[in-house]
Amino acid sequence: RNGLAKMSPSIRRLLPIFDGIPVYMKTRINRLWKKWKEGAHEVMEKYEATMTNRKKLNVLVFIGFLANEQKLKLAKKSDHGGPLGELLQWSDLLASLSIIGHHLEVATDKDSLRSILWKYKERGPCQYVNGTRQQMDIIFTDIMGLNILRQYHRQFLFNNRCRIRLLDSFGTHAEFTTKTYFLQNKRKLSGPYSQRNPWGGHGLDLRQHWTFYPHSDDNTFLGFVVDTEGVDEKRQKTLYPSALVYGKEKYMWENAEKPIGVLKKFVKIHATVADLEDVNEKKTNKTSVFDDVKNHGFLNSQEISELLDTTTIFFGLGFPLEGPAPLEAMARGAVFINARFEKPKSRKNYKFLAEKPTLREWTSQNPYMEEIGEPHVITVDINNEKELEVAIKRAIELKPKPYVPFEFSPAGMLLRVALLLEKQEVCGKIARSKRWPPVNQMKIFKTINSGESCEKTCHSQKMKCESSYFSIINSPSLLQRQFGCSSTLSDASPFAPFNCTVQSSAHLFSCASRPPLDVVRVCPCRDYIPEQHAICKGCL
Ligand code: UDP
Repeated sequence: RNGLAKMSPSIRRLLPIFDGIPVYMKTRINRLWKKWKEGAHEVMEKYEATMTNRKKLNVLVFIGFLANEQKLKLAKKSDHGGPLGELLQWSDLLASLSIIGHHLEVATDKDSLRSILWKYKERGPCQYVNGTRQQMDIIFTDIMGLNILRQYHRQFLFNNRCRIRLLDSFGTHAEFTTKTYFLQNKRKLSGPYSQRNPWGGHGLDLRQHWTFYPHSDDNTFLGFVVDTEGVDEKRQKTLYPSALVYGKEKYMWENAEKPIGVLKKFVKIHATVADLEDVNEKKTNKTSVFDDVKNHGFLNSQEISELLDTTTIFFGLGFPLEGPAPLEAMARGAVFINARFEKPKSRKNYKFLAEKPTLREWTSQNPYMEEIGEPHVITVDINNEKELEVAIKRAIELKPKPYVPFEFSPAGMLLRVALLLEKQEVCGKIARSKRWPPVNQMKIFKTINSGESCEKTCHSQKMKCESSYFSIINSPSLLQRQFGCSSTLSDASPFAPFNCTVQSSAHLFSCASRPPLDVVRVCPCRDYIPEQHAICKGCL
């Protein structure tokens, strides 16, 4: 046997993989290590019974995002403004897996992947070397990594499909997971920008898609940790209010003249735009959105944290969607001005989302923060001058305390990753008594308003929709009881089970899908621990 996973908050376990990962990731892991250690201590104190007696797993982490480095240069761009959310999440996942005591194999390119798989293949399935089981239990990768596995290691992927856990920031909905359903319905599912589905079509169980925020009940929430290194609860903000504008590249400021103009009336504006030098050097006579803005260029984690410590307002311009930075600002006592979208943005009307495999609608730049609200967050239409002025004045008065939701703290992430790896089962048929979340945590509701999703119905009960329960409630006898039907039909539809109709395709079970007006859906819901959406109260 592989034995039990022991909590081991020593960074030494990670040193062997440090050579293979970008500097940004090493720096982040090192910087946050003290916080991770405190988190490990906290989680053991509060949840000792849950954290002990877990199986030690062999975990392969294949960061596909970095495996096309020659072409994409994503690691290289990480020290001057490129996308950091993914690298930040991978860093935190590696730290979590190591601390909760699993055996790690990490690959960031095709060669290292090949040699790891070869090592395991040579020993054959279920061999034991020095008492250690030589089989992969879980494989974390991303969509680029999955494509590489499909191209170069087909058989391995075929044998290990159910062990894949896919990092998928924005999440995937049922309509996009099988190629056939998408192709049959692509017009209905798309808008003017694209009718393609390049990131979907993997046919995985939707719970195998692990997201950045807890936004899609069909998927699993992985999350990340908010950097609170050096946060001082007692520190006063500077006497004069200031704002840091959220947007590390010039293009993110396009069309922002109006809201920035309003902001300038009230506060000193700071920026961390990485690609601005050339604009400053030209010194044209034209007015620019950057006039009177103190641009610091791209800052490292410590510098940006120090700047946020003195910032009154963290000002969102509407893009990037759902990055980590607003949570970091809130953790340092800044008020986040969250840009509301008058018309929600989705793949049907917004180019950036046009090829994302989800029908989710963004009501603002950061819907999770929108829920948090005052005193930490004000969600406002930044193009409405009057409303924006009121919001800015209010933000200056609020002076909130630093705040991090538990699910974004090290203890919260350690608990969640440990539990999900121990209990969430996607391979094979699972006995009712072994299901997780446990079946006795299920509450069934019918959609109340017509055209409503199960997600919405469960949320209105302060619960989550739990997609793993769909297979239990998908029975003619239950529908007969719920709707008084004398007989039932069956249909392959993301709305089923509904009215007197059972679901005929397990791939299409969906919490998120919004049915036509005459359809009443049956929804399986569960509760959750406050500030820990992934885990129900009876799930520990
Ligand atoms: N960040 C940074 N230096 C800067 C600006 C941002 O290190 O000058 C960090 C920020 O603290 C956050 C990360 O970049 O941890 C990602 O920020 P963002 O929310 O913009 O998300 P992304 O779009 O990169 O995923």
